[in-house]
Parts: sequence; structure tokens; C-alpha cells
Amino acid sequence: MSSAVTDLDVAVSEIAEEMRRRPDRGEVATYIPELARVDPNAFGLCVIDAEGNVAAAGDCDTPFSIQSISKVFTLTLALGKVGDRLWRRVGREPSGSAFNSIVQLEYEHGIPRNPFINAGAIAVTDLILSGHQPREVLGEILHFMRFLADDQSIAIDKAVAASEQRTGFRNAALANYMKSFGVLENPVEFTLGVYFHHCAIAMTCRQLAMAGRFLVHSGRNPETGMSVVPPERARRINAVMLTCGHYDGSGEFAYRVGLPGKSGVGGGILAVAPGRASIAVWAPGLDANGNSHLGRIALEALTKRMGWSIFGA
Ligand code: GLN
Repeated sequence: MSSAVTDLDVAVSEIAEEMRRRPDRGEVATYIPELARVDPNAFGLCVIDAEGNVAAAGDCDTPFSIQSISKVFTLTLALGKVGDRLWRRVGREPSGSAFNSIVQLEYEHGIPRNPFINAGAIAVTDLILSGHQPREVLGEILHFMRFLADDQSIAIDKAVAASEQRTGFRNAALANYMKSFGVLENPVEFTLGVYFHHCAIAMTCRQLAMAGRFLVHSGRNPETGMSVVPPERARRINAVMLTCGHYDGSGEFAYRVGLPGKSGVGGGILAVAPGRASIAVWAPGLDANGNSHLGRIALEALTKRMGWSIFGA
């Protein structure tokens, strides 16, 4: 690591400055009451390149609710537990509908389209839960996040989890509906409890970028050389992030940013530039698809400037 200011440092601070000044900030999610309290003017960006250099700007050390970004990590854990058998329970095609949509489930016999829409993530959570107590599984997920980010301070925001538990009727409908098809094995309230709590993990951009490194480096932690997942699995998780990570905005994200990415309604996005960088951005205002409005714009500016799109310059 060098202390000289790099092109990446300059790009990150200029983009953060530009985003701070923009008036178009999107709308903060309000359907989870606790998320409605977040400052729409917040903006954080953190990039960790292949050499381990960290470029960070704005509110990069403020924890935010990672929400659906947690689904990348629960998918990783579930694949570790059951391998490719996971794909019997959930598909891997883009849904073309909203993150919390129920319509496809009826046509497709309770099998969710992919692991990143809510129904799919609830099915994945149920897989991890089987054979364990909810508390143990949450401990395992948290342990995994702390290990990947190399930071023991990462925790669940209990107020956010409770807020969603009180108001998550749509997710309860999805879970009950899947249960009626026999897609969920555990009591619905247990599966949902784990799901709401892993969505409520709070992390900073810096922690999230650290946690994403294994997806940049073919499944290895670049610092220790330790394997988190086999290369083939990292590649496939990235593929699902590219095609499904932004719900009905996945095509637009690929078109504009050109990287595997996963968004959350807390306004965070984790993006992976394979072999190059792990990137986390946070801007709480969302677009119509529930993806961070300025987060996407910032990533578009960054990948363009650095030439990082997987589709070429
Ligand atoms: N916990 C949120 C929900 O289930 C996650 C949604 C999201 O981040 N897109 O509605």
C-alpha cells in the first residue's frame, strides 16, 4: 500500500463531492418505518482495489442497513451448505418484477425466480435455517460478515429488524404462500425472523467493500490467500448479481454500470469489478425500482472513469 494520492483516490473524492451537491436524491424507503428516519443527504463511497489500497469518501464510515445486500452472503452460505441442490428450491433467472412481487410465485408453483428477490431470499434463509435454531443461524451469518470484513464490530440493528417484523406483511404473505407449496421447511415465523434480522445488519461502506473482496478475487480473501468459496462459485454468484441484483432495474444497471452488483432498500449497493475492485456505495434515496438512485449514478461515473465495466471501455 502506498500513501501517494492515486487516480482512484481522486476519482472517488470527486465523485463523492459531485453526488453531495446533486439535488435529485430519490426517495428514502418508508415501508420499513425505521428506514424512513435516515438522512437522505448521506452519501458514502469506498473502493478497495486489487492491491488492497482503500479509497473512501463521504459518509463511508457511517453504518447503514444493508437490507437485501445481505442476500449475497446468505446465498453464499446456503451454497456452502447444500451446494447445487439449492437450485431445486430457487431459480436463477431475472424476475422482471418488483423485489417484493408475489405474482410469479403462483404460476411457478412457489419456486421463486432467483435468490435476490424477497421470495427467493426467504427460501434461501429457510435452507440455511434447517436443522438449526434461528439464533444459531443469525450468529453464523453475523460471524461470516465479521470474518469477511475483518471487523468484529458489525452488528444487527435490532430497531430496524423489529420495525420490519411489525410491518412486513408482504414478506409474510410470500413466506406463507411458499410454505403452502412445500417450498419452506421451517415454521414461517422462524424463517421470517431470521430473514428480517439478516436484512437489518448494519455496515459501513468500508466494511461492505471489505466483505465483497472474495467475489473480486475468484473466491479468495486477497489478504490472507484463504479460500472463502471455490472460484467457480464466486463466478456464478457474480453472474446472478449481474442478472438479478437490481430486480427490474438489473438491465439498466448492467447497461450503465456494467458490473455485478447487489442493492438494498437501505440505499446501499455492493459492486464487484472482477480482478480489480470491491466497491460499496451508500445513498439512501431510491429510484422507482427500489435501488439507490445516486448510488447507481456514482457507480456509473466510477466505472466509466476507471474503465472497469466488464463489457469493455
Ligand atoms: N428487508 C427488505 C424487505 O424484505 C429487503 C428489501 C430490499 O432491500 N430490496 O422488504
